[in-house]
Amino acid sequence: MKYLYIQTFGCQMNFHDSDQMAALLERSGYRITDDLAASDLVIINTCSVREKAEQKAHSFMGRLGKLKRERRVIIGIAGCLAQQWGKEFLARIPHLDFVLGTHNIHRLPEIVEEIEKSGTRVAETSFHEKVKSLEIYTPSRNGHVTSCVTIMQGCNNFCSFCIVPHLRGREESRPSGHIVDEIRRLAASGIREVMLLGQNVNSYGNTLAGSPGFPELLAMINDIEGVERIRFTTSHPKDLSEDLMKCFGSLEKLCEHIHLPVQSGSDRVLTRMNRRYTSEEYLEKVRTLRAYCPGISISSDIIVGFPGEEEEDFQKTIDLMEKVIFDTSFSFKYSARPGIVAQEFEGRVDEKTKSRRLSLLQAVQERHTLQVNRSLVGGIVDVLVESVSRNDAFEITGRSRSHKIVNFSGDSSSIGRIVPVRITAAFAHSLRGERESGREVTQC
Ligand code: SF4
Repeated sequence: MKYLYIQTFGCQMNFHDSDQMAALLERSGYRITDDLAASDLVIINTCSVREKAEQKAHSFMGRLGKLKRERRVIIGIAGCLAQQWGKEFLARIPHLDFVLGTHNIHRLPEIVEEIEKSGTRVAETSFHEKVKSLEIYTPSRNGHVTSCVTIMQGCNNFCSFCIVPHLRGREESRPSGHIVDEIRRLAASGIREVMLLGQNVNSYGNTLAGSPGFPELLAMINDIEGVERIRFTTSHPKDLSEDLMKCFGSLEKLCEHIHLPVQSGSDRVLTRMNRRYTSEEYLEKVRTLRAYCPGISISSDIIVGFPGEEEEDFQKTIDLMEKVIFDTSFSFKYSARPGIVAQEFEGRVDEKTKSRRLSLLQAVQERHTLQVNRSLVGGIVDVLVESVSRNDAFEITGRSRSHKIVNFSGDSSSIGRIVPVRITAAFAHSLRGERESGREVTQC
């Protein structure tokens, strides 16, 4: 038996790519392990969107030199950093065996086999017109009741702070029939909730002649027997159509949560970011969403300290947050990444100012998250039970339709079931509740 260890950095798409790599290598006799010291093959799946994730990947890679000196192990790097630096990585890191770009996951087994046989070092970062990895079936992991399904990859938007279109290539959608088939197989294997993935799912189908659009795709998935819940990420606000917003009110399996990154509340900054919407247009979409689906949970990504962001711009972001009241947000200090357009922009914001703005913004978000979570106390929510707590065998955990973590008493027999839970306490990152029987669900 050969053992595979994968270290993943970055977003949900990267984690799904790692699952695809594991699925492919399992067919070549590898078994996944969480014991680095016992592994025969180590893959670092990287992200280059944020400087911190890149630093962590480099530091992890550095530590692998010792492992390579101690025993025979194959070491590879995949993901956005691999795509970005290609062969240069082989020159810089002597203990690295292969570099695998974002369009080449499907080639992983043959590359590993080649290295096993001949010890050749390989860098494969070519772009392909059709991304074959989109069609790699990833079976559900033992005991899992939720699964990710890629519906598209790449992006045509070129936001000035983002490297993704350069490293993942242009937008490519999977044929709807393939997506539906994959979800049917997942449902048959016990999956109850699917998360549809893409850099900008709202433009699903645009590059595929005769394809249904995203709202139609959602309706097709809504009809699949066995699937109880549908989620998706990520949505670009400019592409969020009225038809898609209506789906939240009409498709019973579509969960009442949308991740809709606003990035800034200042129109001046949004223009420099090349986001192609104004703060008022964003707010209008939020109002429409709430009209079709009262109580919908909305989360966001926000960047502070984008080049040229003045105090007044930052205040506009806070003002927008006060108007929207996001359920949660992921906030970051802008970091200059090689290859992005904004790297050339003037008006760098100093680190101290970025840190101060980030702390202020996160304090506002914490207040809002608590406010939203507390409003759920006393109500009953539907929870899809996902697992038993790691620390307590009589404690189970799952998510509400609005994507909130809910913990309550129970055992493993509830995993995969949707149960009504009365919320008794609210915290910043989770809710606590008690199981209710025979009661109607009152909130998302
Ligand atoms: S929409 Fe913008 S931020 Fe999102 S992946 Fe595309 S370029 Fe990057």
